[in-house]
Amino acid sequence: MTECINYSKCRFFVENMKNSPSTAMMVQNNYCKGKFEECARFIVFEKRGEALVPPDLSPSERERAELILKGA
Ligand code: SF4
Repeated sequence: MTECINYSKCRFFVENMKNSPSTAMMVQNNYCKGKFEECARFIVFEKRGEALVPPDLSPSERERAELILKGA
């Protein structure tokens, strides 16, 4: 299975999910080690670069990612 290229450095889990390890594992299995192309963080990273990925952007926040891509 392919893994997200950001997996080893993704700040989301360190900064937002350190107190929810079981939820973090579910998200990682679903996105980071699965359909990472659908991750909101990955989408912003790919199209706009790491600097524009908000630290608290959740992988499931696709609509927020679209707003970021539009410059909103
Ligand atoms: S949260 Fe998204 S960007 Fe971060 S490692 Fe997982 S799939 Fe990649």
